[in-house]
Amino acid sequence: MKHILKIENLHVEAERKEILKGINLEIKSGEIHAIMGPNGSGKSTLCNAIMGHPRYTITKGKVTLNGKNILKLDTNKRAHLGLFLSFQHPTEIAGVPFNNFLRLAKNANLKANQKELIRPIEFLEKMKETAKSLDMNEKLIERSINEGFSGGEKKKAEIAQMAILEPNIALLDEIDSGLDIDALKTIAKGIKKVHKNTNLGLILITHYQRILDYITPNYVHIIKKGIIVKSGTKALAQELEKKGYKAY
Ligand code: ADP
Ligand code: MG
Repeated sequence: MKHILKIENLHVEAERKEILKGINLEIKSGEIHAIMGPNGSGKSTLCNAIMGHPRYTITKGKVTLNGKNILKLDTNKRAHLGLFLSFQHPTEIAGVPFNNFLRLAKNANLKANQKELIRPIEFLEKMKETAKSLDMNEKLIERSINEGFSGGEKKKAEIAQMAILEPNIALLDEIDSGLDIDALKTIAKGIKKVHKNTNLGLILITHYQRILDYITPNYVHIIKKGIIVKSGTKALAQELEKKGYKAY
């Protein structure tokens, strides 16, 4: 099935300040959209608003998934429809082993979609496989979520979640920030693999064009002060690299 996330004239406020001022975007299965913009331009706000973070108020506009308005749904429900967000700053959650957390999340998702649940043993195998493919230490899957993980390990854990949950549309918020070149390559490889296996629609939010050397976007959008000032293809990212954000 082809999935479409459509964002129309989206205006978003936080603490009475308007942050997004009319965003229009359409992401279909299999497409990769890169969203690039300076710090404070509203990239994370866009992700949070799409997922239903309570601190962000939609004052105007629409977000639909396959024609269904999602803005009234709670975050869980949006996730069950196949939306996924990886956080720019993943939080540490003490006392909740990564493996258990993710199995519960996966099974909640399967249940909501009337699918057969996955058993713990089977799940553990899947987790180990996923960790291996991301060059992630197997011991991390038994540990509390993100607790004591390095920056790179936290980002890998986000991609492991995406690989396991198999969303239809994923928003990756600065998945490349704070990574050394080896971790960046591994993560890019992991993202590409999930994308290829699942026909995922992907929004890749990034500050730099470096990750786009490994993952070729179909579209590139530049966001500034809460609006998309220019859209194009991969060439736009290269142009941006040369000219800087000031040129737009
Ligand atoms: P980016 O991810 O592009 O760096 P953000 O979406 O995090 O930008 O932030 C955009 C602007 O909105 C910034 O000026 C930021 O301070 C403000 N902002 C973001 N979230 C909140 C919030 N919860 N409350 C108040 N202001 C916010
Ligand atoms: Mg951000």
